[in-house]
Amino acid sequence: MVTTVILGMLCVYLLCFSVMFLLISTRLNGKKMGMEVFALGNLLLGLAYILQLVGGPPGWGVLSMVNHTLTLSAPVAYVLGGMRFFGQPTPILRPLLALAVAYSFIQVLVQYWLGNEARHALLAGSCALLFLAMTAAALHGVRTFAQDLRVEMIVFAMLIGGICILNAMKFAMIVEGGLAALDLSSGFQKVFYIYMSFLATVLPPCAVWLVLRRLTDELRTLAAHDPLTRLLNRRGLMDALELYFRSRKAAAAYLLIVDIDHFKRINDTHGHNVGDLVLSRVAEVLKATVRQGDLICRLGGEEFVVIALDTDRAGVLQLAERTRAAVEQSEVLGTDHDQAIRCTATIGVSEEFTSVQLFDEFLQQADAALYRGKAAGRNRTEWSHAWDA
Ligand code: GH3
Ligand code: MG
Ligand code: MG
Repeated sequence: MVTTVILGMLCVYLLCFSVMFLLISTRLNGKKMGMEVFALGNLLLGLAYILQLVGGPPGWGVLSMVNHTLTLSAPVAYVLGGMRFFGQPTPILRPLLALAVAYSFIQVLVQYWLGNEARHALLAGSCALLFLAMTAAALHGVRTFAQDLRVEMIVFAMLIGGICILNAMKFAMIVEGGLAALDLSSGFQKVFYIYMSFLATVLPPCAVWLVLRRLTDELRTLAAHDPLTRLLNRRGLMDALELYFRSRKAAAAYLLIVDIDHFKRINDTHGHNVGDLVLSRVAEVLKATVRQGDLICRLGGEEFVVIALDTDRAGVLQLAERTRAAVEQSEVLGTDHDQAIRCTATIGVSEEFTSVQLFDEFLQQADAALYRGKAAGRNRTEWSHAWDA
């Protein structure tokens, strides 16, 4: 009786959270992060448990066969949903249908050759192996595809590991003692379904937490980057600089302003779209020219800022000259692909600075140098007068 109530509650949880996953997936336009597949998984498992409730004792029949197929398909759906969450564009319906057909066929064979006990043992054994694979995948993810979700993956591995052990125990009990192990009034079944209810209650909020984390991380990245060039924007640069200067190993930094020469002319002659291509090309050139760890930002319009870290005067002047030459040598194709468009840039370099609070002051310093470079004919590198003082 108690287990029947637990099983009934479990169905309600599963179906309610299925609706919740579905609602969340409809709010996530485009990238649904596997939420619609988790909804399907919960629906399959909910239906399986409803069949178990109405089907009575574990016998052989269509209801029982469908129940077993649904019970095995649900965790497979969770795996496919997880793959989608981690960015793998996995098909859903075809693998699930193939599994349903194959497992139904296997059930008929096992029932015919080995009997009902073997069919129930097969389900418990298959579930145990599947959950074992899921536990191993979650632990593998800690060091590979889910490094940003380490704690979450370890919690998932522990929770799924629990249901793996319970299924393995169920398998062993059926093999040793027959179908008595599946009696709903037995202590083991009580523990089994209490644990399932616990999972059905805890896992959905965990999945929602993962989605929230991904969304907020994406928002933070969007807020810190320029959409055209994917470089840091001013806000992202200030955050990155603050982080850098906070570290104990931080050395002084130099600031370079890179401003494309006569960019308005490129826009006016070739159109705004080609202007955008030139901006993206210059961004690529900057990424390829600076050292790893240096910061690059699109300050606005056709102005970029490079923060050269861990270097000296000679190093930063070399970098500025290398950057100027690389921009001069780069080109983009016009809209008709018949014309190579080139541009040059003038670069102003500041004196070294050691705190994010000094950023504006040293930006002005570099800007003054840039202005002199423009006045002196463009396509040149100028350093701040403060260097001569
Ligand atoms: P100078 O050599 O003195 O730097 O001249 P300039 O033409 O490069 O500078 P100016 O400030 O006169 O013009 C900058 C132009 O950049 C004007 C503006 O329309 C264009 N611009 C700003 N943002 C964007 C953008 O996102 N895309 C495109 N295509 N153009 C932009
Ligand atoms: Mg310009
Ligand atoms: Mg400018």
